[in-house]
Amino acid sequence: LLVRIEACGVCGTDRHLFHGEFPCTPPVTLGHELSGIVEAIGTAVSGFSVGDRVTGDPNIACGRCPHCHAGRV
Ligand SMILES: [Zn+2]
Repeated sequence: LLVRIEACGVCGTDRHLFHGEFPCTPPVTLGHELSGIVEAIGTAVSGFSVGDRVTGDPNIACGRCPHCHAGRV
């Protein structure tokens, strides 16, 4: 999905990134709790329509650790 971001949160992790206190590879766009409007949909995506209001979970779960298996990704 191509999402036009309408709002995002800036949290403590972003603050640490800004001050170079958290490992990252610049450039990094700050603000990772987001919501917006669907602008375009890729051919491999289903279940969405242009104009839908969406939010995203930017965390990447490993799917293998005990926390993921317990549903706490
Ligand atoms: Zn995991």
